[in-house]
Amino acid sequence: MSSTLNQQNFPITGVGLGPGDAELITVKGLKALQQADVVYYPATSKNEGRTISYSLKILETYHLKAQLKPMLFPMKSQRRVEYYEIAYKAIRTDALQGLKVAVVSEGDLLFYSTFGYLLPMFKEDSIKCELIPGIPAFIHSASIGQLPLVEEQEDMTVIARPDSFSQVEQAIEEHSTVVVMKMSILKDDWAQFLKSCNRSFFYIEKAGTPEQFTTTNAAELENREMPYFSLIIFTSKN
Ligand code: SAH
Repeated sequence: MSSTLNQQNFPITGVGLGPGDAELITVKGLKALQQADVVYYPATSKNEGRTISYSLKILETYHLKAQLKPMLFPMKSQRRVEYYEIAYKAIRTDALQGLKVAVVSEGDLLFYSTFGYLLPMFKEDSIKCELIPGIPAFIHSASIGQLPLVEEQEDMTVIARPDSFSQVEQAIEEHSTVVVMKMSILKDDWAQFLKSCNRSFFYIEKAGTPEQFTTTNAAELENREMPYFSLIIFTSKN
């Protein structure tokens, strides 16, 4: 066993898993996971020590030889930095023992992702990394909805965790296409807002999974509890 090596033999490989359908990983990403000794995945710690992980569900379908290790992040965000440091240290320890380490993110690695927090820590310690991108959820969602996202001189903006419906409204006024991520943060009535804003939209939850739900009809969102894995695309006015 190479446990006393204390040197990095392989770069840490970040792998984007794609947004939900396990087949939407790149060939390169899957090969990296198949060759890894250890794969770290994000998991959310809930009450009573329970954890849930969307990424783990995808990973399990690949039947990897690697040991799968969770990076635990609590639901409430105050102590998030501490948890990133714990995850970072575990990953670094494995890498410095000469293991082939992969770290996965749901969707893409650098798009509202855990990996975006870990990357500066690797850089600061001169830990070598290689990044293999994944398909972000909004890109897959546009394909599911068969929506051209932007054409010609149109522009697009992405907002996440909007503070208010007026922030969404302003974005819609200013841009041809608007993607809203983490939209479930607005607990008030999305259905009412969508009826009033007079712009076509595509709502999707759990894209690419058996629980996928989509609609372009605001009435279907009345009284619907939106999960964390939901987003909305407002399409071009034309
Ligand atoms: N790295 C991911 C984004 C993670 S942030 C990516 O590249 O897409 C989490 C947010 O992404 C969720 O709140 C939701 O808005 C969106 N999201 C991720 N996966 C999704 C899916 N399968 N279906 C719908 N929305 C999804």
